[in-house]
Amino acid sequence: MLIRRLVALAVCAALLPAQAQGLPDLGDASDAVLSDKQERTIGNRVMREVRIDPAFVDDPDIADYVKSLGNRLLGAADPPRRPIEFFVVQDDAVNAFALIGGHIGMHTGLILLTRNESELAGVMAHEIAHILQRHQSRLYQGQGKYQLASLAALALAILASRGSSSQSSQVTEAAMVGASAIMMQGQLDYTREHERESDRVGLTLLERAGYDPRGMVSFFERMQRANRLNEFKSAPSYLRTHPLTVERIADMQGRVEAMAPRLVPDSFEYRLARAKLRAASGSANDQVAWFRAQLADRTVVRPREDVYGLALALRRTRDFADAEKELATIRGGEGHPAFEWLAAQLQADQGRPDAAIATCREALKAHPRHRGLVHGLAQLLLDAGRNAEAIALLEEKARATPEDARLHELLSRAFAATGKRLAQHRAQAEAYYRRGNLAAAVDQLELATKIRDADYYEQSIAEARLRELRSQLAIERDAEKALKLS
Ligand SMILES: [Zn+2]
Repeated sequence: MLIRRLVALAVCAALLPAQAQGLPDLGDASDAVLSDKQERTIGNRVMREVRIDPAFVDDPDIADYVKSLGNRLLGAADPPRRPIEFFVVQDDAVNAFALIGGHIGMHTGLILLTRNESELAGVMAHEIAHILQRHQSRLYQGQGKYQLASLAALALAILASRGSSSQSSQVTEAAMVGASAIMMQGQLDYTREHERESDRVGLTLLERAGYDPRGMVSFFERMQRANRLNEFKSAPSYLRTHPLTVERIADMQGRVEAMAPRLVPDSFEYRLARAKLRAASGSANDQVAWFRAQLADRTVVRPREDVYGLALALRRTRDFADAEKELATIRGGEGHPAFEWLAAQLQADQGRPDAAIATCREALKAHPRHRGLVHGLAQLLLDAGRNAEAIALLEEKARATPEDARLHELLSRAFAATGKRLAQHRAQAEAYYRRGNLAAAVDQLELATKIRDADYYEQSIAEARLRELRSQLAIERDAEKALKLS
């Protein structure tokens, strides 16, 4: 991962001098803003880096929850809507950002700082508004010429500069220098006008989607207060990129007062996602203590998410027996597929892989589309050497949800274990393709078509797919060349 960051930095460094010298004209200067296609090309280029970053959260429970929250808000926007990809970044720093081309990233630190779902939805709605109002590309308006390469460098720098304690401080420091050099040119920060507009549009989305608009105000207010009192280790970059002023908060309060007040209970998925993130952060022992304290004064009704969080934290301390005991109290009744997956993991932890597999299979009957269970079961089958079962499961699920890259990765592993090399590379190609890395997908298919271990039918499928992806790659490369991204 160190290498990954250095690559990102190298890209920035290589682009910075070009920026200083003045970049060539990129497109027609009479265009008011970047075209949709140009934005998408830059966004895709950046997302290729993001998706393979170890900090990119692939956990289906967290990723799917944030995606559904984002899509619910986006669905409240006036058509025509632009598709937006929502993702989560493992980082304690409080931040959320919209990348050009329709991608929104939320840091785990921000999700944990929210006190209720309407607050999280509020930040998300604000970011969605930046994209809907095309603020990123408008920042580049009126500069005489577009600086698209620097825009891509900037996006990479934002990612590289995520100051997280878990990363090498040296690399982070270097990234910060790169990022702040760009920031000093004043190209990153949204203007106050942009902020006002995003607050206004965001509040509307929030209300239409059925959340409590007061959530947006309370979250921003609390961030401002915490920052004033120096409660953050360092000023969150969120506040630097989204200038938060007294006027902004007063404006939001005024708008919210005109709306009907409503009490919106948090969804169970929000509560589960937060418990899972908390259980995975910081020291395991601290989290065990935290969840125990939460539950100590809740003897009558113990919130299921806190019991789940406690079981997760106990698993981290390798106290499997206690984790199982806690988990058992919430598995019956309503239950939840995430509880069943944790139960299976605890069985596997204690050397009972067959029981773990049986638990997953049983839970999948009720929740056939729960990705955590599907991925988990496939993993368990592979670990147990039950490759044929794994392949059958993964092929069935990949037919239903071909966009799930993880299924193809696991399939590739299963084929490798059974010595089916053509199929292995084909599956790996699909995995790369679903993660937006066309060049790597083409490489894998080139390997696949050179292997003669399958029948004519499979050969020709691989060849046809190779031709298809090669032509897509050519289009992508042309677009990137036009934008001086390659
Ligand atoms: Zn903003």
